[in-house]
Amino acid sequence: MLLDRLKADLAELDTRALRRTRRSVATPCAPHVRVDGRDMLAFCSNDYLGLAAEPALAHALQAGATHWGTGSGASHLVSGHYAVHDELEARLAAFAGCERALYFSTGYMANTGTIPALVGRGDAIFADRLNHASLVDGALLSRAELHRYAHGDPAALERALAASSAKRKLIVTDAIFSMDGDVAPLAALLALAERFDAWLMVDDAHGFGVLGPGGRGAVAEAGLASWRVIYVGTLGKAAGVSGAFVAGHADVVEWLMQKARTYIFTTGAPPALAEALLASLDLIERGDERREHLAGLVALLHGELALARWQLLPSRTPIQPVLIGDNAEALAVARALWDEGLWVPAIRPPTVPQGTARLRISLTAAHCADDVRRLAHALNRLEAQR
Ligand SMILES: *Cc1c(COP(=O)(O)O)cnc(C)c1O
Repeated sequence: MLLDRLKADLAELDTRALRRTRRSVATPCAPHVRVDGRDMLAFCSNDYLGLAAEPALAHALQAGATHWGTGSGASHLVSGHYAVHDELEARLAAFAGCERALYFSTGYMANTGTIPALVGRGDAIFADRLNHASLVDGALLSRAELHRYAHGDPAALERALAASSAKRKLIVTDAIFSMDGDVAPLAALLALAERFDAWLMVDDAHGFGVLGPGGRGAVAEAGLASWRVIYVGTLGKAAGVSGAFVAGHADVVEWLMQKARTYIFTTGAPPALAEALLASLDLIERGDERREHLAGLVALLHGELALARWQLLPSRTPIQPVLIGDNAEALAVARALWDEGLWVPAIRPPTVPQGTARLRISLTAAHCADDVRRLAHALNRLEAQR
């Protein structure tokens, strides 16, 4: 009975063109990869600085494993917290311009642990409608009242804050929206947080390492500093390794260490990873050349794409979505690109709102100008043919 129903549910995913599949990649994360026996040029990864396969990081990881072994052995609050974790947290805090940072195993865990630690029943969360799923899940776990405001709209947020009588208020936003590539109006959000005595949690998964002076992220780029800001950076995207951190006022971070269940009830990440992350921070800090090259590729894509029906969204970040609309059409275009050796993911609901299926092009510093031209010309031609 139950299994029959599940089979029918799976079949329905097929009829709605919503079934997801995975490709197995046989080579390291890079623009040129071998997938299912084919050589492909990929525009899929969030490895924005091209560090995921950087030899210096692999060497740091190897040296870390030689020194520390592979496992941490326990959760951080028991015995799985090592000196190199302290060193990493101090570096991350200084880098983000905050008093203290707490290192989590993943960004998903940082978000789902931090939100319920800050707010609960009787409190209220004000979330941008396009926030990442991990922020939505964290909000649901907290049991606080969830208000979702219109995307990127401080006036809508202001109305919701003014109407709320909640004890504690938490504003939550992506810094760069992961499926749109646009940047949140952080200064306006912080002004509202101050006016309504709210926290402002900024998930900078896509801006850390990419935006701001020295890659310090979207909050640094906006020139904002406040004890109200709870800054989340993830370390599996531009940093090229894995993990995440939450940074802010020392008391806030201490509270998270006491209360964030995804920090407390999980085995500490391998200390060798922290060694690789320290090496990654060195490269991020000295990464202006990579960031300039990446910005040049974004400009090149905008210059080379000439689309009529499909729409390149107005993004200045490495996330460059081409809006197609229909799920099946987006899939068909992705398949046509695949057939010419170009790997671009089609993103469909529920990851994005109904009717806004898109190609999500992501550019990295490891791409070259010819890679971007090849993609742009293929898209221009495909649109004309369809
Ligand atoms: C990727 C992502 C996360 C999750 O981070 P992981 O380290 O991959 O778990 C959280 N928030 C946003 C906006 C993301 O894009």
